[in-house]
Amino acid sequence: MLIPLCVSYAVRGQAAAAGAVWNGDAKIWEIDEALVTSRFDALRPFLPRMYRPDRRPPYIRPHMVPQTSWGKNLRAVLTPDEWKKVKTHAYQAAGYRCIVCGSKGPEWPVEADEAWELDDQSKRQTLKGVIALCPDCHLVRHWGQATISGRTEVALAQMQRVNRWTRTQAEAAGKEGMDVWTARSRHHWTIDYAWVTRVHGLTITATGLNQAEAANRELVTKAEERATGAERSWLNHLLR
Ligand SMILES: [Zn+2]
Repeated sequence: MLIPLCVSYAVRGQAAAAGAVWNGDAKIWEIDEALVTSRFDALRPFLPRMYRPDRRPPYIRPHMVPQTSWGKNLRAVLTPDEWKKVKTHAYQAAGYRCIVCGSKGPEWPVEADEAWELDDQSKRQTLKGVIALCPDCHLVRHWGQATISGRTEVALAQMQRVNRWTRTQAEAAGKEGMDVWTARSRHHWTIDYAWVTRVHGLTITATGLNQAEAANRELVTKAEERATGAERSWLNHLLR
């Protein structure tokens, strides 16, 4: 079976040397899955996570930022040009393919996902990178949005396909994602954007941080307006 690879244009020669083959019709770099183990070192930079023999599932699961951090994302604290530079870098590095499953979307190939590490002890939320994901893998990460927009079926099917999970396992991951998010949303998180300074040389300004705070208030208020019953009382609790 042929599997897709994430090959940046700049290193296509290196990929070809590792055995990757360019399929001009489908515009995709591919490798025979049977070769992956024997050529793993050379192929490692190009392999989507779900095809890496050194990684175990789950490769994709819900991973939501707490409600108290909504809107305080990298996009909000950077200027539009700076954000474009950061996300384009992520897309190019992945050859405009999903770094988890190697697919791309039907309308646009990939979306930028901010990879946050959440330390439940210190309540510190640290940016670890910006990664290219296909729209379906991105939807899984933002499980809450999948439920709000009525697209849980898409997200469940993607978890099943990518993680080789049963429906029951995918549903359990969705529930667990919501439980973790609810618990984390009870706290205020300190956000660490240092990655973008270290990797892209960009500085976070006071203006950017103010924009992020304003975005958070707007999003939480909107969620409150949309909510009903028990959900609304929960949001009121958060806003107090
Ligand atoms: Zn994907």
